[in-house]
Amino acid sequence: MQSVDGDTAQVPPQMAEELGLPCITYVTDAEFKNNRFEFTRIISGGSQVVAARNPPAIITVAKYEYPLFATFAKTRWANETEVIRWASADIKATHIGVSGSKTSVIRVFPPGKSTRKCRQLSDVKSLAKALVESFKSGNGESGQGADDQRSRYVLPGRRASLLDRSFEGTKKEQEDYEFLADKLKELSITESSRINDAIKEKILTASRERFHKKALEDMINGFKLTEPTFKGEVWVVAEHSDGVVHPATFELVGKARNLADSLETKVGVCLAGYQVEPMTKELIAAGADNIYVIDDKLLDVFDPTAHRKAVADAIRTYWPQIVLYAATPQGRMLAPMVSYRVGCGLTADCTGLDIRDGSRTGLIGILLQTRPALGGNVMATIRTKNSKSQMATARPGVMKRIPPDPSRKGKVIKHKVELSEDDVSLEIIKTELGTGDVNFNAEVIVSGGKGMQSRDNYELLVDLLCAALSKKLDTRIERGASRAAVEQGFTERAHQVGQTGTSIGPKLYVALGISGAIQHMIGVANTETIIAINSDPNAPIFKQCDYYIVGTVEDTVPQLVEALEES
Ligand SMILES: Cc1cc2nc3c(=O)[nH]c(=O)nc-3n(C[C@H](O)[C@H](O)[C@H](O)COP(=O)(O)OP(=O)(O)OC[C@H]3O[C@@H](n4cnc5c(N)ncnc54)[C@H](O)[C@@H]3O)c2cc1C
Repeated sequence: MQSVDGDTAQVPPQMAEELGLPCITYVTDAEFKNNRFEFTRIISGGSQVVAARNPPAIITVAKYEYPLFATFAKTRWANETEVIRWASADIKATHIGVSGSKTSVIRVFPPGKSTRKCRQLSDVKSLAKALVESFKSGNGESGQGADDQRSRYVLPGRRASLLDRSFEGTKKEQEDYEFLADKLKELSITESSRINDAIKEKILTASRERFHKKALEDMINGFKLTEPTFKGEVWVVAEHSDGVVHPATFELVGKARNLADSLETKVGVCLAGYQVEPMTKELIAAGADNIYVIDDKLLDVFDPTAHRKAVADAIRTYWPQIVLYAATPQGRMLAPMVSYRVGCGLTADCTGLDIRDGSRTGLIGILLQTRPALGGNVMATIRTKNSKSQMATARPGVMKRIPPDPSRKGKVIKHKVELSEDDVSLEIIKTELGTGDVNFNAEVIVSGGKGMQSRDNYELLVDLLCAALSKKLDTRIERGASRAAVEQGFTERAHQVGQTGTSIGPKLYVALGISGAIQHMIGVANTETIIAINSDPNAPIFKQCDYYIVGTVEDTVPQLVEALEES
C-alpha cells in the first residue's frame, strides 16, 4: 500500500533496488491479461498501463477500495498459522537503526499556522460578497506555500567577522555561538589563534555552565572552519516528457541557483532521455550552468531501472554536493533508487531547503532539509550524514522558478552510459496524458470534485457558476477538477489540478465537492483566495481555505448564482 508520508514511500523502491527487482509505484488498478499482470499507475499529468518484463516486481498501491473483511474460517486459519519472524541479524542487515541511517533529524517543530482565513459563512449572499470582494482586493501575489528564497547564506570566509556564526543550525547552537562571540568581542579577540587557556577559563566562568570545556573547545575549533563540508555542484535531476520539461524541474533549478550562489558553486542539471538536447536552452535560461546530457534510445520513456542506472552513473562520475529531484510520482520512485545505489541519504517531500553551518559539529554549508512528518502534524529538519552527496525530493509548487533569462550562457556536457535492453524493467503498454485547450492562467478557476456526483452535474453546475462569475467579475474563468473527478469521467484530464495535474496560482479558486487531499491542495497553494463548498462539515479543505459554506453543490451553486446576479 502506498504510504502517506515521504519516508516510508522510499522503502519499496529501495527494496526493489536491493533485490534487483522491477518496481511499479502508485498503482491504481491491476488486471490479469495475456498471461501476465498489467498495472495502471499514476504518472505526472495522467496514467500509464505497464507490465514487468521480468516478474516478480515490487508494487505499491495508491488506493484500494475493496473491503478487506476476512471470513471466519480464514481468521481461524490465520490464528493457527505460524508467523515467521526475522530479526535484523537473520537478514544480515549491516546498516540498521539510527547509526545505520544516512540522515539525522536535527530539529522537530510545530508547523506554521495556516495563513488562510478558514472562515465559515452561513448564507450564499455572504459567500457571493466574499467572492466579489476577494477578487477585487486581490493583488495578483501568490498565497502561502512558497519557499522563502530571500535569505541567502554566506560562507564563513565571506562574513564581516570570523566570529559571525549567526547561521548555526539549531537554536541552542546559535545561542551558544552568540554568547561566545559576544564574550570574545568584550575581550577584544578577533582571531581564534589568540584564544589561550586563560581566555578559555574566563569564558567558561562567565558562561555559568551554559557549556562545558569540551563544548567550548569544539566551538573554538568551529570558528577555524571556513570551507564547506561538501564539495561539488548543486544538481537537479530533470523530469520531462515529449520534449517538455516538467514545471517542477524549473522550480528546482530556481532553488538550486539560490543554494549554489550561497555556496559559490555551479548549478548542474542531469538530463537523461533520448534526443533531449533541445531542452537544454530552456534549462540554462532558467538558471543552470552545466547540463549533463545522457542521450540514449533506451531512455526515451521513463523506465525506473534504466534511468536509475544513467543518473547514478553521472552522479558517481561528477559527485555533486546536492542533488534535488521533484517529489512527483517519477521523482519519488527514481530518487530512492539512485540514492540507494550511490550510498547517499535522501530526505523526501521537502518543503524547505536551506544552507546552514553546524560548526560545533564541524559542518560548514550543509543542506538543511525541512519536511512535514507524522502526517503533517510536525515539521522536521534533517541533515545528511555518511554520504558524499546530500539528496532531497521537493514538493512541486513550493520552490519558486526564477524568471527565465535567454541571454544566460551554460555548458552542455555529454555523459555516456552503457545501457542494454536488460536495463529496462518495464513494458509500457499505454500512456494517457491530459490534452486540450485549458488556460490555467485565468484569474478565476472553478473546480469540481467527486462530490459533483455525475458528469451531468459537473457540466451543469461548474458551467453555471463560471458564467455567473465571468459576468460579475468581467474576467475569463477556467474549469478545473480533482483527480477523482477526472477518474470518474466528469471531465478531461487536462483540467486536473494538483500534484500530478497542473499547479495553479489564480486570484480566486472555487472548490466544489472537493475534500482537500494533500495532493490536490499542493496544486493550489499559490492561490490568493480559496473558497470551498462541501456537504461534510468536517471536510479537510475547510482548514485550508479562506471562506467556506457547508452544503450540497446541488443546492448551494444555483443559490450562489442567483445571489451573484442580484448583488
Ligand atoms: C501520487 C498521487 C497523486 C495524486 N495527484 C492528485 C492530483 O494531482 N490532483 C488531485 O485532485 N488528486 C490527486 N491525487 C488523489 C488525491 O489523493 C484524492 O484522492 C483526490 O484529490 C480526491 O478528490 P476529491 O476531493 O474530488 O474526492 P473525495 O476525496 O472523494 O471527496 C469528495 C468530497 O465531496 C464531498 N461531497 C460529496 N457529495 C457532495 C455534494 N453533493 N455536495 C458537496 N460536497 C459533496 C464529500 O464530502 C468529499 O469531501 C493523487 C493521489 C496520489 C496517490
